[in-house]
Amino acid sequence: MTRTHWLFGDQLGPAFLGAGDGEGPSREAPVVMIESRAVFRRRRFHRAKAHLILSAMRHRAAELGDRVTYVRADTYREGLAAVGRGPVTVHHPTSRAALALVRSLDDVTVLPPRGFLVGQDDFRAWADGQRGLRMESFYRHVRRDHDLLMDGGSPAGGTWNLDHENREPPPRGRRTLGAPAPYKPRESDVDEEVRHDLDRWERDGDVSFVGRDGPRRFPASRREARTALKRFLSERLEGFGAHEDAMLAGDGVMSHSLLSSSLNLGLLDPAECVESAEAAWRAGEAPLNSVEGFVRQVAGWREYVWHLYWYFGEDYRSSNELGHTAALPDWWNELDADAVSARCLATVLRQVRDTGWTHHIPRLMVLGSHALQRGWDPAAVTDWFHRCFVDGYDWVMLPNVVGMSQYADGGRMTTKPYTSGGAYIDRMSDLCGPCRYRPDRRVGEDACPFTAGYWNFLHRHRGTLEHNARISRAVHGLDRLKDLSALLDQERERGEGPP
Ligand code: SF4
Repeated sequence: MTRTHWLFGDQLGPAFLGAGDGEGPSREAPVVMIESRAVFRRRRFHRAKAHLILSAMRHRAAELGDRVTYVRADTYREGLAAVGRGPVTVHHPTSRAALALVRSLDDVTVLPPRGFLVGQDDFRAWADGQRGLRMESFYRHVRRDHDLLMDGGSPAGGTWNLDHENREPPPRGRRTLGAPAPYKPRESDVDEEVRHDLDRWERDGDVSFVGRDGPRRFPASRREARTALKRFLSERLEGFGAHEDAMLAGDGVMSHSLLSSSLNLGLLDPAECVESAEAAWRAGEAPLNSVEGFVRQVAGWREYVWHLYWYFGEDYRSSNELGHTAALPDWWNELDADAVSARCLATVLRQVRDTGWTHHIPRLMVLGSHALQRGWDPAAVTDWFHRCFVDGYDWVMLPNVVGMSQYADGGRMTTKPYTSGGAYIDRMSDLCGPCRYRPDRRVGEDACPFTAGYWNFLHRHRGTLEHNARISRAVHGLDRLKDLSALLDQERERGEGPP
């Protein structure tokens, strides 16, 4: 009997409908897709993200034509019941909640995950053999195992890690990096229908969103995602590496690939992304530092985060080693960038409000760093990143925020907390110049909230952090601050209002 195959909204590429390895649905299998309203009711998503997901699902359904039964239902359970089905297959979903759901249903067979380079057994075998889990060592394992950027048994170019070439500040005196513009999709009738439906949901008072919607900036179909990948490889990859950690107020995308949402919707497979980037280097079309930086993001970090989500177990979600419990303030929840004076934070929050995306450094060193310094509840911060970013999913944000950004796991994922004073932001951006605060001021009217917040954070957690070799020098720097007590008074008086 041919079994119906169920596609979740982040399983939209060809790999989820038969990769030809005997572990997928048959080529003739009828398909069911379920648009669950309850998913959008449970969390207050960025509207551009809700739009992208629904648009991508509906574009996929249109491609599949008569093969698919597309159900609009309140819950997945109701949607599946409405299909009047026999046995169903589904590829391993990407969240623990969805996995528990499919496992609880009768006659549903869960097939292996798709959309990642490394299998779960392979990761477990690697991780169980490590004394401490570190991305760099996992990344080298993936490079070797998948023969990525390798020359025989050695890394291409003789070194695994070209990070030191990829931490350049932005070019001086330039408002933009000058990279060719990224691919921009053209909206279709499907987008108009989605926008109309989202308006109706909001009018009904059923669902509420945050942020601005449109025009759609990220691919919603395989064809669009392939075009975006090709455009990145041929026009933008070359200049990606050197300034990948830099920020420019007038150029939020710089040379970044903007492919994370396409990868996480399943529209692109990571193998095709990294293999074609390597091919570009071998053809002399892109320098090694750019290609290695991109391969590290996709085959290293993305795979690492996916596997840690499962490997660390469900309890990881409630990690809170630093005991941070403050609620997120309203201006943050509402993405009210106009209420913020700190230029770096206002610029980044505005980009999130308007697009649902900003690159990894504003996420880590502006948004995440501010949340960490203010002592906000890491679970709430994780949820915020999940809801407000077009590429955010439970598996993406849990390790990235709990582990990397908020150090709530006490160092299981990273060796130190990632936060800094204004000096780092000043070095890596053009944001500080016109700001009303000064990056080198800790105390007073023009004290930079990141600089004051940094020292306050180190002081609050001195007992924990002074034993960490990677940050203990900075912690001992507290002893040299003559204005520490004024700084602490200032930070105590600072409310939860926008800086
Ligand atoms: Fe941000 Fe401080 Fe620089 Fe202003 S001075 S942009 S608040 S780092």
